[in-house]
Amino acid sequence: MQIILDFEPYELYESVHELIRMAFPGGEIRRAAEAEADLLFKLRLVRGAKQAIMEAEIRTREDGFKWQKSLDIPALDERTVLNWAKQQVRAFCYDLLCDLTGKNINSYGILTGMRPVKLAHRLIDQGLSAEEIETRLKSEYRLTAEKACLLTEIAFANRPYQCTAESGNWVSVYVGIPYCPSRCYYCSFPGAVLKNYDSEIAPFMDALLCEIRTLSDCLKERGLKVQTMYLGGGTPTVLSTHHLDRLFNELFKGGWITAETAEITVEAGRPDTLDLDKLHLMKAAGVNRICINPQSMNDETLAAIGRRHDQKGVVQSLQWVREVGIEKINMDVIIGLPGEGLKENTHTANKILELRPDNITVHTLALKKGSLMSGQESSFTPQERTGQVKAGVELFSRLLREAGYIPYYLYRQKYMKASMENLGYALPGCFCLYNIQMIEERQTIIGLGGGAGSKFINSKAGTLESLYNPKNPAAYCETVQQLISRKVDKLRALN
Ligand code: SF4
Repeated sequence: MQIILDFEPYELYESVHELIRMAFPGGEIRRAAEAEADLLFKLRLVRGAKQAIMEAEIRTREDGFKWQKSLDIPALDERTVLNWAKQQVRAFCYDLLCDLTGKNINSYGILTGMRPVKLAHRLIDQGLSAEEIETRLKSEYRLTAEKACLLTEIAFANRPYQCTAESGNWVSVYVGIPYCPSRCYYCSFPGAVLKNYDSEIAPFMDALLCEIRTLSDCLKERGLKVQTMYLGGGTPTVLSTHHLDRLFNELFKGGWITAETAEITVEAGRPDTLDLDKLHLMKAAGVNRICINPQSMNDETLAAIGRRHDQKGVVQSLQWVREVGIEKINMDVIIGLPGEGLKENTHTANKILELRPDNITVHTLALKKGSLMSGQESSFTPQERTGQVKAGVELFSRLLREAGYIPYYLYRQKYMKASMENLGYALPGCFCLYNIQMIEERQTIIGLGGGAGSKFINSKAGTLESLYNPKNPAAYCETVQQLISRKVDKLRALN
């Protein structure tokens, strides 16, 4: 399906593009006013001094419709008015698209970003009660009652753990090891599949250790204290014990890990990269949370998605982690994997609940363009797949809540099946602090290594600046000196 968007002013384009994509999945969306199309969507926002008029025209090959709505512009500063106008346009378009398609195009209403819980936090900041927040989310942002309730519940659950202006100079740190032993078919990860350990890892480690060493001076100069650390990737446990040891030594020497560091997580997503020696080393380094990510506990599915381990390997890794005495375990699962329906999801949920990890993160499959499975669909119709995915997500929600798990952080991605979410559950008292700081964006995150994202939060000015290290290891090694200088400047500018 060819879809043409003709928006004025042009700034509206980004605000509405994602909603159109959700309304017409698979459609080819372009900006060319006069070209031939199966659907033309024209939108105009005309602003007067006190009133704004929104006009929309939708033309299909058979039919045409026009709408108009006028609004009183609130007496607020220009930046707030612009945000308000975008919200109004999105709500206007959302209603039109739901009418046109005869369905609810997004259970999160006009919220299409990755971090919808942030909005609930902003409403708490304004002093609203849970009930008032849910009402606003439903009426102004068009969320379904279920999602409005979920966002509100999560915001109130993780609020006590958030960094505030009074929390002192706490930061979190992400260390990115952008290598995997092989590529899972659903993953769009653009890092590197490790082919020759010695020749690939040595230059990467040199660059990473240099970044850690050089930035540690800045950490001390600014009096920053690391609250949480997360080693992710890729798969950090592809590193040998020797390289893990060098890495942790440098983190200790540089003051990145101290007695005040509350949480150190290592992603050991692939059980095929883990052994007892590495776990003992990590325990000695203070690691107190490990992610063992089965994705599914069905061996057939694991083979079909290229995971190179079976469910027995997952159970074995978990036993090792407990034997070594690392306190907390997270397990990730994915709903919507090929060949999986409610029967397979039930099997995975029950197997995982038997193991009773502290955290369970329930992902919905999002097949991005870079993944090997992109474009492939199972033999089910899109409607059947959507229904199955929703049923799988609901099943996990019910079983996990019944078993005492609480939802505590949430994020969304583009191309998620059934317009769902990734949802982190935890046993009481076991929330992952890093995940909260990372998703709610109220604490500075310093990213080190390949693909690591840094976020510099200036709480006084209310600003957030992001900086990303390249995911490709060679590009990271080449640019590490420039990256260090830019981070030094940004850390010095924090207040
Ligand atoms: S282990 Fe994780 S990062 Fe690596 S390919 Fe598989 S899903 Fe992607």
